[in-house]
Amino acid sequence: MIAGVKGATHRALGTVLGLGYGTAAGLPIAGVIGCGLLAPLTAAGPLSPDIDLQRSWRLTDRWTPDELLGRRGPLQHRGITHWWGLALAVTLLWWTALAPLADGGRGSLLAHGAGALLAGWWSHLAGDLVFGRADVRSGRGPGIPVMPWWAHVGVTLRVGGALERAALVALWLVAAAQVLASLGLLDRVSPTAR
Ligand SMILES: [Zn+2]
Repeated sequence: MIAGVKGATHRALGTVLGLGYGTAAGLPIAGVIGCGLLAPLTAAGPLSPDIDLQRSWRLTDRWTPDELLGRRGPLQHRGITHWWGLALAVTLLWWTALAPLADGGRGSLLAHGAGALLAGWWSHLAGDLVFGRADVRSGRGPGIPVMPWWAHVGVTLRVGGALERAALVALWLVAAAQVLASLGLLDRVSPTAR
């Protein structure tokens, strides 16, 4: 099986970006925390770009001649679901259809809930851009595709390596700092912050 970035790191990065989204959107603390809890859902696992590792997806790939489209086809792992263009298209859709609803009440819940899920999805792409080497067997490059499902680029750090473990710890520290900051407690625990 082709290894993806470990779920734990993806979830941690998703949490950081979710909290960051909530803060940037100017949400109250409960909203920020809510975004931090939502984003990991689309940062790792079956609701993330790694849906392409799900058994049903793999079977579909096997029975669909999507390879006829060239470059091993859009259904390959780290294929179309890992393309930034797809994420951008959905983000633009969100921007035009849902973001305007964020004026308080239920509309805000929907708009910012979807916004947090999008932040999680983007965080997965960011994680895979940094971690993940080329797949020698299929000939796929490292990272994520620049074109819809080919021309992969990435930093090619090893999945499960020491750097990923260090990143995991650092990300949770950042997440903790974000929560403390949104509670207004960071000034008290950090002597350097004003
Ligand atoms: Zn992935």
